Amino acid sequence: MRIVDIQQRLQALGAKPVHQQRVLRHWVHALPHTQNKRQPEHWLPRAVRDDLPALDADLAALARLHSRHPAGDGSERLLLALADGQTVEAVLLQPGKVAGLCVSSQVGCAVGCQFCMTGVGGLLRQLGSAEIVAQVALARGLRPVHKVVFMGMGEPAHNLDNVMEAITLLGTVGQIGHKNLVFSTVGDPRAFAHLQALGKGDVRPALALSLHTSDAALRERLLPRAPRLSPAALVDQADAYARASGYPVQYQWTLLAGVNDGDDELAGIERLLAGRFGVLNLIPWNTVDGMPFQRPSWERAAAMARHLHRRGILTKLRHSAGQDVEGGCGQLRARAATGVVADGVVVAAPTSLRIKPAAETPAAAG
Ligand code: SF4
Repeated sequence: MRIVDIQQRLQALGAKPVHQQRVLRHWVHALPHTQNKRQPEHWLPRAVRDDLPALDADLAALARLHSRHPAGDGSERLLLALADGQTVEAVLLQPGKVAGLCVSSQVGCAVGCQFCMTGVGGLLRQLGSAEIVAQVALARGLRPVHKVVFMGMGEPAHNLDNVMEAITLLGTVGQIGHKNLVFSTVGDPRAFAHLQALGKGDVRPALALSLHTSDAALRERLLPRAPRLSPAALVDQADAYARASGYPVQYQWTLLAGVNDGDDELAGIERLLAGRFGVLNLIPWNTVDGMPFQRPSWERAAAMARHLHRRGILTKLRHSAGQDVEGGCGQLRARAATGVVADGVVVAAPTSLRIKPAAETPAAAG
């Protein structure tokens, strides 16, 4: 379901734009329709009021809580069941300055990053814009959410229309500051073009770019179906958007021991990022059984961060949220599909939690 479907349903019942906005605001903020002094009978057309219970039920069915997985760092992984029985993950981020939520944009992912569990299964389907916003609505019923990062399952650039619709709603009636909406990508020309074309009145999100290496050949191996743009070309495009939007780029770098944590990469990062408007996030990889990578020591990761800092590259060393619960993106979902979601608080078991065969990867992934 897309947000426009909700708007059209309300419009067909006689709701004016102001009514539509109010109903959407209640949904996105997880508020009851009766929370204002003015009760629905004082402001909503009769036909809309009569439909509200059914509409609320349909919106609640977009994403239901399947299980909760709180971590020691205060973050909490959520496994969410969609109306068709598929599942996606969302993460309530570690409490900090801004209460954040990481959302999924697709069921599965076509990029096929070699270190990512989500990439293993391929792309199953797109999420509709309403399913993306539903993750925020559900999370706001658990905790405040003032920041939304699109770093969960999926490549947002491969579902651009739905992601941008969701970003627009979250940045308006959802009352999330534009710099706190973070569009994450492996680097896709169509996404860069779209972001650059956003006008003054549009909701302009901040940008995160999954870089992972300064070596073009290695990047092709690690991200086999990402667009074939060199790291230098990616940084050029991301930097141009950062300067246009006023928000620094968050360069994401999943650290894999012996793969992209060497001194050659330190020199490559300096070449790429010196003088750029951005921050580098070094994130030691979460170990996944059966994957051919190792997590580097925290000492090595910290030494890399110190080295880069000394050379003027703003660098942060981060834990992947909730790593002590189930590890990285896609693992909860994979375990649910095999009936082995461990250690979590299971809230409700959906009727169908199976992984379909991977769909053919879209051309955009190449
Ligand atoms: S890391 Fe992100 S882009 Fe890569 S396969 Fe996983 S979900 Fe897709």
